[in-house]
Amino acid sequence: MRLDKLLANVGRYGSRKDVKKILQKKRVTLNGETVKDGSIHVDPHTDNIGVNGESVHFREYIYILMNKPQNVISATEDGVHKTVIDLLDEEQKHFKPFPVGRLDKDTEGLLLLTNDGQLAHCLLSPNRHVEKTYFAKIRGIVTEEDQQNFAEGVILDDGYLTKPAKLSILKRGENSEIEITITEGKFHQVKRMFEAVGKKVVYLQRIRMGDIHLDMNLRPGQWRELTEAERAFCE
Ligand code: URA
Repeated sequence: MRLDKLLANVGRYGSRKDVKKILQKKRVTLNGETVKDGSIHVDPHTDNIGVNGESVHFREYIYILMNKPQNVISATEDGVHKTVIDLLDEEQKHFKPFPVGRLDKDTEGLLLLTNDGQLAHCLLSPNRHVEKTYFAKIRGIVTEEDQQNFAEGVILDDGYLTKPAKLSILKRGENSEIEITITEGKFHQVKRMFEAVGKKVVYLQRIRMGDIHLDMNLRPGQWRELTEAERAFCE
């Protein structure tokens, strides 16, 4: 591949035009020798390419763990609202990541973004029953009966019987706080499960998908890359 195209694809050196400028400024080396010609063909697997004295790492995939804020859409594009992609830097956007599943506009918390279809499939495939845990605030008193109902499955407004879900009550009262773990991902599932037992979710935050937990150091809107250990959940 052409050197200028390859460097532009990395994302962090800007467009091909920007790369041309970097080349002209003699900031690029190929196997230790300064190069100014972006049209030469290089092999990212065997050639050692440097920019500003640092070796360039080429990669195909990107894996991002985001604390999704409210009022942002978990989609790649939206004509009206801000999307989770808008929260990334150009360097990450360049890899064209997409959200792994969806969270409602008013739901916060763990959202993974990647361009690796295999990871997305591993986490979302209905056959794998990956556990998803949510923290929620509920208007209404959550009871042991609700726990029992959720454990057996509840019937949603469209007649669907949910798979067993584990409900833990953290705080009881007119405004309860709970954690719920489900293994499927029906549209508005948690909200509709509570509707099915006559209660309303007033705040929802995803805190876990499989072995991948929301990073409590990330404020809503912040993100970081997944660690290798987190990625290993799907290997
Ligand atoms: N269940 C919901 O109701 N909403 C979400 O965003 C995720 C799960």
